[in-house]
Amino acid sequence: MSQAVVHALEVSELSKTYGVGDRAVAAIDNLTFDVEPGEFLCIVGPSGCGKTTLLKCLSGLLRPTSGAAYLEGRLIDKSPDGLALVFQEYSRSLLPWMTVGANVRLPLLGQRVRKQERKSRAAEALAAVGLTGFEDKHPWQLSGGMQQRVAIARALAYQPHLLLMDEPFASVDAQTRADLEDLVLDVHARFGITVVFVTHDIDESVYLADRVIVLTHRPTTVKEIVNVPLTRPRDQIETKELPEFMEIRGRVIRLIKGTDDVPAGVAAAYEEVGE
Ligand code: ADP
Ligand code: MG
Repeated sequence: MSQAVVHALEVSELSKTYGVGDRAVAAIDNLTFDVEPGEFLCIVGPSGCGKTTLLKCLSGLLRPTSGAAYLEGRLIDKSPDGLALVFQEYSRSLLPWMTVGANVRLPLLGQRVRKQERKSRAAEALAAVGLTGFEDKHPWQLSGGMQQRVAIARALAYQPHLLLMDEPFASVDAQTRADLEDLVLDVHARFGITVVFVTHDIDESVYLADRVIVLTHRPTTVKEIVNVPLTRPRDQIETKELPEFMEIRGRVIRLIKGTDDVPAGVAAAYEEVGE
């Protein structure tokens, strides 16, 4: 008997429709792709196409209408062990009355992790995001970029096999965004985590990814999967100056702007990143 390959994540003919009858909204249509262990996969697609819906299905928060997803071969039907999710809206995901340290340790409380290990894991995670010494601060005392680093530290302290990130840097300024991109690349390399990263920023997707999945407009399905064989470690200036980077970036932009698939308004929203 041949040994079946166990993917880090397997998405198999997954569809999701909200509501029924006249009010039904088809968000995802028959999506199939795999993610390999340690891979950095980016997902791009038009606004409203179903990216957040997909991550909710992958994290067990929403049940697919049909099809399924598997984490390391196990069906995802409720919030699975070994998976962490970082949202765009960090201000709503951190608890304001708890310290930074307590926020980072929170997901470990439900696990069988001793107090001493909870503390050391939180300290290690905060060190990884450059926030040593901020344990006793409260989230509201920190800048937006620092709060998002706390949210990333919380995900790291949990030691996930799979890290899902939903447009995590959409609401920070450009310089902070570049720093956070490099931070995520660094922890991806150091901890060997598999990452699925949703973004609407094409440069960001190519800079981070091993592969970029380009989704169609709603109900979304895979339009194309683009390989990004750029060497690592990557560099914000040098990598982005490579002819290969520009070629891949152009390809992804053209896929997204493809007139037959993208409504005019959505294509216009991508003009800013176009040529
Ligand atoms: P994206 O993250 O790509 O912007 P979403 O996954 O948030 O897109 O939404 C995909 C589509 O599903 C949108 O048309 C949105 O309006 C719709 N949608 C999202 N959540 C719900 C819901 N709870 N009920 C009904 N429709 C929803
Ligand atoms: Mg979204």
